[in-house]
Amino acid sequence: MIHFVGAGPGARDLITVRGQRLLCEADVVIYAGSLVNPELLESVKKECIIYNSAYMTLEEVVKVMENAEKEGRNTVRLHTGDPSLYGAVREQMDILDDQGIAYDSCPGVSSFCAAAATLNLEYTLPGVSQSVVITRMEGRTLVPKKESIKSFAGHEATMVLFLSTGLLGKLSGELLAGGYKEDTPAAIVYKASWPEEETHICTVGTLEATAKERKITKTALIIVGDVVLHNSYDRSKLYHPEFTTEFRKGTEGVEKA
Ligand code: SAH
Repeated sequence: MIHFVGAGPGARDLITVRGQRLLCEADVVIYAGSLVNPELLESVKKECIIYNSAYMTLEEVVKVMENAEKEGRNTVRLHTGDPSLYGAVREQMDILDDQGIAYDSCPGVSSFCAAAATLNLEYTLPGVSQSVVITRMEGRTLVPKKESIKSFAGHEATMVLFLSTGLLGKLSGELLAGGYKEDTPAAIVYKASWPEEETHICTVGTLEATAKERKITKTALIIVGDVVLHNSYDRSKLYHPEFTTEFRKGTEGVEKA
């Protein structure tokens, strides 16, 4: 059996309880060495064989899985954050499907959740934004034309950009072309939940200069939108004394939870 496991954003105690258990039980671990905290590997069995996929191709990764399967070993494929976001898991699963090898997935705490926690930020503030656009600048991996930053920026919703730290000048240009203002609040969160974590509040217009000044070139998330400064927003209906919910009687109106 192959278990795809989310390692969480970095801090050793931000893996899920299930993920930790799977890691403790694994005979083989293949971890994404570029971003997974190696401290997580301290909890594996002493006979566990460990591979760092940063040095491996897809074919090599799957070969290790196939061999482990033949020998009746349990494999954990440890991905950073949550495997479903920019994790390149589907291509592994498709090969495993072809080989008839069983697998399952264990979610992880994505770095975008860790970044919000670091800033004590709520992405979906009533009256400000009720949507979060998770996207990236185009790099070697192409982004479909219909998903341009400019088109998403037109919504002025909360936006979280992965894998884009090296392209901040261009990113600002596209955000501005789409509708955000020079002074729309933004944040750069470097290595959220790691000991070396850094957070910098800036604006759409100053993203590139801020990253340059702090020498941040990778492993960061960019958060854009008025939720970053939360200057004004509406209080929630759910906890308003006037509103009745499924669980609580209010002074007027009925709001379904
Ligand atoms: N599956 C991962 C994302 C992998 S893509 C997740 O759910 O978080 C790798 C990108 O994620 C990095 O380039 C960076 O933009 C972001 N990232 C991963 N870990 C991070 C962290 N601890 N802090 C800030 N950004 C992080």
